[in-house]
Amino acid sequence: MIQPHEPSLLSDENQFGPAASQMVREQLADRGIDDPRVLEGMRRVPRHIFLHFTLWARAYEDVALPTLHGQTISQPYMVASMTQLLAAAPEHRVLEIGTGSGYQTMILALLAREVVSVEREPELAQQARLTLQQFDVNNVSIHVGDGSLGHPPAAPYDRILVTAGSPDVPQALLDQLADGGRMVIPVGDRKSQTLLAIDRNGEKLTRRTATECRFVPLVGEQGWPAGSEG
Ligand code: SAH
Repeated sequence: MIQPHEPSLLSDENQFGPAASQMVREQLADRGIDDPRVLEGMRRVPRHIFLHFTLWARAYEDVALPTLHGQTISQPYMVASMTQLLAAAPEHRVLEIGTGSGYQTMILALLAREVVSVEREPELAQQARLTLQQFDVNNVSIHVGDGSLGHPPAAPYDRILVTAGSPDVPQALLDQLADGGRMVIPVGDRKSQTLLAIDRNGEKLTRRTATECRFVPLVGEQGWPAGSEG
């Protein structure tokens, strides 16, 4: 049966609802993701909507998948791990660097008060805007620019999530992190990184390392030089 194209948040009544519930159980909860708000967000956001329709059958699998322009939508477990580490609360304003498909952006939109997301590729930003418009979200803004410099007009941010791999922690992002705030960022070389959580308390910064990960490079003034994407 052909169903009308009507994206909405998932429940078990939707076509993809059971697949999303299974993803949450087997890929997330069974592997130690235990923040109920994160699990609920991951269960409700339809991941297939962020992918080309030829990939819909694989949308809830335990893998990263390609989007436009050779970018990737991260593995669900990685999205959930980062989101849990970020610990965004309903009153928080969040800066996300690397909008990509907008999937992670949509998860954050359910968890926080406001999400400001920066994407370097104009076409990706536009596609993500169109995708998010299909949902009733009014707390997200997507900007085209070099996110290694953050987004100063709306700073400071309670939470900053970088979803591209950086050679180091950009000073611009530290400068835009609110007192009491937290940044989660993959730092390392071009092929593999370590996920860092950095907490700011006044002038004091506390760093913690979490898992190893692989993200596409953060290309920009305080990231990798352009031309180093591959
Ligand atoms: N969170 C995304 C996946 C991000 S992939 C999702 O859920 O789909 C990383 C993204 O970071 C890519 O879209 C890439 O174009 C973008 N990117 C790389 N360098 C950037 C920069 N300096 N500023 C903003 N975005 C950047």
